[in-house]
Amino acid sequence: MDTKNPNPAYGAHLEPFHGIPTFMRRPASRELEGIDAAIVGVPFDSGTSYRSGTRFGPRKIREASLLLWGFNAVLGVAPVDALEIVDYGDVEVIPVDISATMGAITTEVGAILEQGVTVVSLGGDHSITLPLLRAHAARFGPLAVIHFDSHPDTWKSEFREHPYSHGTPFRRALEEELIDTDAYVQVGIRGPVSASHDLEDARQLGAQMLTIDRAFEMGILGVVEAIRDAVGDRPAYVSLDIDSVDPAYAPGTGTPEVGGFTSYQMLQLVRGLQGLNLVGYDLVEVSPPYDHSDITAILAANLTFEFLSLLALTKRKEGQ
Ligand code: MN
Ligand code: MN
Repeated sequence: MDTKNPNPAYGAHLEPFHGIPTFMRRPASRELEGIDAAIVGVPFDSGTSYRSGTRFGPRKIREASLLLWGFNAVLGVAPVDALEIVDYGDVEVIPVDISATMGAITTEVGAILEQGVTVVSLGGDHSITLPLLRAHAARFGPLAVIHFDSHPDTWKSEFREHPYSHGTPFRRALEEELIDTDAYVQVGIRGPVSASHDLEDARQLGAQMLTIDRAFEMGILGVVEAIRDAVGDRPAYVSLDIDSVDPAYAPGTGTPEVGGFTSYQMLQLVRGLQGLNLVGYDLVEVSPPYDHSDITAILAANLTFEFLSLLALTKRKEGQ
């Protein structure tokens, strides 16, 4: 697979409004030999507790990614030149069956990871992170997790006895010991919660919680330092719920919470992960039907570009 000279339909020399919108014009391919990273869409939103629509996230983020010029001037790297990247397409989700969908995510993503390819997932609601963590932990062992969100997503359940929804993935992942509790950092937590013990529960389960108030006290660089201290050189998985960003900047999401990060602060937070042992990433909760002027999808595409830039810097360092 020559990712630098893709099929003309996805080609590198098209204007942003031309052609078929694969992520950053990477070839749509499931040939993974020699590939560094695969963009994988997970268009599933049946784990949503309030307003849905994230099933349209992957497609809209791909479209928004066509606006990205290739060179990251802050980090000094062009990820699509430095890395072999394909757009793998989407996991086959079943909107009426969350368990079957989770099984499909773990199986498909697990098969990609087995080939030594880093999976960059685009959701979908946050319920998809549990099967993604299952696949990654099966390969890398218990993971350091950097979890950007306005919600801790560690509720016992949201709908009576049902264990799975977008409010419970991290509780389940902790119960299944997929997460290394010495290195689980939640960043941006805020907003009214359903009970006084909600945040304490997350801490009891092992989350190192940086609420938005704490984050703004520490400053972005302080937050970055705290994340880096906690994670060290452990294999680290990044789960980025777009509602960690303020709805003024990211309105297209299912459960918005006011008083969050700006787009620029979020870019800085992702860049701050440079050099960590990054083994996985998902960006979830982009809901295009609630978006305005695609600003949420554009931000999501840019944050994913930043993450790919980090992978590119690591590859360049290893090549030296
Ligand atoms: Mn979430
Ligand atoms: Mn959230």
